[in-house]
Formats: sequence, C-alpha cells, structure tokens
Amino acid sequence: MAITKTDFMRGMQCPKMLWLDKHRPGLKVIPPEIQAKLDAGNEFGDQAMAMFGPYEEMTVYRPGTRIPDKAAMLQRTQEHLEAGTEVICEAAFSNYNNYCAVDILRKTETGYDMYEVKNAPEVYEQFVKDAGFQYYILKRCKMPIGRVYIVIHGEDEANPFVPVDVTREAKGFYKWINDNIWDLNRKQKEREELQVEPGEQCTTPYPCWYYGYCHGEAAQNASADESATGEEQH
Ligand code: SF4
Repeated sequence: MAITKTDFMRGMQCPKMLWLDKHRPGLKVIPPEIQAKLDAGNEFGDQAMAMFGPYEEMTVYRPGTRIPDKAAMLQRTQEHLEAGTEVICEAAFSNYNNYCAVDILRKTETGYDMYEVKNAPEVYEQFVKDAGFQYYILKRCKMPIGRVYIVIHGEDEANPFVPVDVTREAKGFYKWINDNIWDLNRKQKEREELQVEPGEQCTTPYPCWYYGYCHGEAAQNASADESATGEEQH
C-alpha cells in the first residue's frame, strides 16, 4: 500500500480522510451534486485527450471491472515511451510503489511536456500541487519533463481546452511533496483509526465525504434510518 496522487492530495487535506479511504471507505457519502461534478470532470478529461490530435490511451481495467490494472498500465506506458509515441494519455508511473497517471504527455525535442486537465475556469493552487505530485513521481522515474501545464475549461465551447503554464510553481512543490509523502504512507497503514479534530480542513479546499461520520451525523442518521426501516446501515 503506497501513495497515489489522490491519496496524497486527500491526505494533505486531512490524514484521517486518507486513513478512512483505506480502512473504512464505506463511510463515505458523496453528495449527488459533487458526483455530478466529478462525472463532468471525467467527461471533460476524456474529450481533452484528443486536444493535440491522435493519441494513445494507457488505461487498462482489471477483467470485468472498472478498476484500473496499474501493473498493465505501467507496462503499456513503458512500451509507448520506448516506441516514441507522440501523445500518451493516462500515462502511468510508479516509484517505490507511489503512483500517478498523467492525463497527457506530449513529446518534445528534449523529452515530454505534461498536461493535467481540470474542468474549471481558472487555475487553483490545489491543481498546481496535484501537477507537482505527478512531476515528483516522473522526475524520480528519470523522465525528462520540460513544461508543466494545467488545461482549464475556457469560454470557447468549440475549443474549450486552454493550457496554462505552471512549470515553475509545480516543480517548486518537489521538496514539499518529498517532505510529506513518506509520513502519509506511514499514517495510512496505522492499525488504529487516526484521531483528528474536525476543523477548517473538513470543508477546505474540498468538502470532506466523511463529514457526517466525523461530526456525528452518520450515527444520528443511521439510528433514525434503523428506527424508520429496521434496516442496518452498510
Ligand atoms: S470530516 Fe474533517 S476530520 Fe473527518 S476525515 Fe474529513 S476532514 Fe478529517
């Protein structure tokens, strides 16, 4: 069990969130409006794969599931890097089992540029940290990365993919990521549930899906549901 990009971002918001993801994910409650945003983001990301023309996608699922087969994706990515593929989407990399999949890698004269796609009208700091995590993994994999871009959702719906150069800022997070990734990896493996007082991190930068659990609402809702329906909460 190591750290993915999502683990890192969630763990830096709150280590207990990461611990619950690993040990008690059934407690998660994703509001429908957030799920709709996530779905729209995935759709925007899928469309962005073609922003530079023909591309190769590295996504491989475990048979009969929608769970990514990371080992197969890592192997497929290496094959395309060796073949010199111009545009590689969902390119997978791993270092000491820490893992990320890059939305788009585009070949340059000296290596590859990296693009992280976000269905948002502007660049927020969280996006740059997210790209910084990917740069961290790729650099440790000895990938020659030139520029780092966040692709935002521009106003022209006929061509909504707008790359914003965040190279300096994203690469600047390298030390911060290295200073935290190993500690998060240790924390997620703790046997006992991490104890963190609820606070600002429960809503910032993103609303936490365990809000009800940590704020006692889950228990209240569960007992209300049980007395109303006689069913147990799963
Ligand atoms: S609700 Fe707050 S304390 Fe609980 S896991 Fe989420 S961020 Fe952490």
